[in-house]
Amino acid sequence: MPYDYDNQNIFAKILRGEIPNATVLETEHSLAFNDIAPQAPVHVLVIPKGPYVNYDHFAAEASDAEILDFTRAIDAVARKIGVTPGAGAGGYRLIANSGEAGVQEVPHLHVHVLGGRPLGRMLE
Ligand code: IMP
Repeated sequence: MPYDYDNQNIFAKILRGEIPNATVLETEHSLAFNDIAPQAPVHVLVIPKGPYVNYDHFAAEASDAEILDFTRAIDAVARKIGVTPGAGAGGYRLIANSGEAGVQEVPHLHVHVLGGRPLGRMLE
């Protein structure tokens, strides 16, 4: 299935520098910034710089270098903000909403890094 990337989505604008962001970390292929409406004391979004709609698209078409960079960038963010398990804050949760049923609002792949408080059980 071809993936239809919308160049006007808000994260594409952030990547082009048209909208400001509170950058947490930047790597060759990834950018991490604070969520504008945080749902936890720590709420960072990590996005690939490439034009990928969702995880499905990224896994299918991103290069190995992009996938490695993105995977490591998420870990680097958790370390930088001090939420890695055992680092005091006690861990974090990663969420990647994908598609309609996943209630994905912004059509550019993003992983939410949530932490800084006990997050409660999500799945029963
Ligand atoms: P989704 O439902 O997984 O697509 O989440 C999109 C997220 O993007 C939400 O948590 C929003 O608060 C966040 N968001 C939307 N616009 C901005 C922005 O301009 N800067 C930072 N975060 C944003």
